[in-house]
Amino acid sequence: MQTYSNALILGAGRSGRAAERLMQSEGARTLVVSRESGGDDGLACALRDDAFDVCLVSPGFALDHPWLCAVREQGIPLLSEFELGWSRHRGRTIAVTGSNGKSTAVKWIHEALCDMGLRSAIGGNYGIPACEVVMESPDLDWLVLEVSSFQLETVQSFRADAAIVLNILPNHLDRHGSMEGYWKTKARLFECAGPDDICLVPDAWLELFRDAVGPERRWVSFGPGHASDFRYQSGRVLAGQAPVLDLSGCLFDTPVLGDCTGAAVAGLVVSLSLDAVSFRRAALQLEPLPHRFQRLGEIGGVTYINDSKATNLAAMAAGIQACSGGVHLIAGGLAKETDYTFVKEILAEQVTRIYLIGKASEAMYQAWNMVCSCVECDTLEQAFDTAERAAAEGETILLSPGCASFDQFCSFEERGACFEALFNRALKVDKDAL
Ligand code: ADP
Repeated sequence: MQTYSNALILGAGRSGRAAERLMQSEGARTLVVSRESGGDDGLACALRDDAFDVCLVSPGFALDHPWLCAVREQGIPLLSEFELGWSRHRGRTIAVTGSNGKSTAVKWIHEALCDMGLRSAIGGNYGIPACEVVMESPDLDWLVLEVSSFQLETVQSFRADAAIVLNILPNHLDRHGSMEGYWKTKARLFECAGPDDICLVPDAWLELFRDAVGPERRWVSFGPGHASDFRYQSGRVLAGQAPVLDLSGCLFDTPVLGDCTGAAVAGLVVSLSLDAVSFRRAALQLEPLPHRFQRLGEIGGVTYINDSKATNLAAMAAGIQACSGGVHLIAGGLAKETDYTFVKEILAEQVTRIYLIGKASEAMYQAWNMVCSCVECDTLEQAFDTAERAAAEGETILLSPGCASFDQFCSFEERGACFEALFNRALKVDKDAL
């Protein structure tokens, strides 16, 4: 285990503070630099006056951030907070990255490991910094880490017993520059894997990853292709022709989630010889996280679902496909993508009407109105009221915007909370009318 005596820590959020506490508990000197604590000048002074043997980076920093460039110029090794935390963990590790579905997958895996009677904790991008997890729970059997591609940029020696790239979608390209830059960053998850470590990737990406990273690892593929090791079919995951995980009736029993999260986790279960019964039980009991395909309830036979976390079109498509019956879709906001066409078929097949909000509404209207009736509504409230009047018994009103929220809200959480408040208001009106 590499130890440090003088750590420079960038960022004073929860991750930065956790790294600081961990370093101090090992007797290291620490200096935290953040925008609030002096910013550029503070960093310049620190680099001039002190000799650091490591720079610990909070997840919010991009590799090309001027502070990281300045630190690199001084020859100080960069290490991300999650890798520091992981390096102090003595048990085994499962790591999950991808464009969509990470948090949900990590929660499922963790709850299944607990169901098996194992000591497991979730760390990383999910909200609890890895440094905090390992300090609080030093004797874990499993650390289940959610890793964003930003955190992979500075990986030095991180390896997991099993690592999953769930999917790769044209998201976050602003930061990674290109699709190639983006998937190559994801591939860093496997770079230090040993010959027994399991590397799980979507079948369509297997060759590319194996060629880029090297064959001397246990590569396992999942997804709809014929050559795929784990495939979803009619409520189960198959390995070849053999059923290995029953998904019927759970959240992952849909074509999109089944062939992605469902099949990937089945691959994990088989490759690590985990208990499929525990994974089935955990899947059936899994409560969706807030704002992720969260079923709020029913009013007059209409179901309301808050999927505000769907901030790209692939997540929106997954949300629509997970609904049964006609869907009244509330979409729009600040677009992250320019190609709206790949979701047209799904809209035509499953969506009764689309209620468009925010900056993207005009472009979405142009792209989709030919295949599915669109109504431009300025605000979420207006969209909600219009959808509420139109939806019939057995249908669903789904907020799955496919866009970021920042044109009208502070965050996807605030957007989801607004939808939930509108639902509660409608529920009260409905009850009062009885
Ligand atoms: P992340 O942590 O990667 O942001 P979440 O589990 O929070 O992922 O889910 C984010 C959004 O992506 C939700 O709207 C969810 O319904 C959707 N989603 C989950 N899994 C998938 C998948 N395999 N493909 C596409 N969208 C997905």
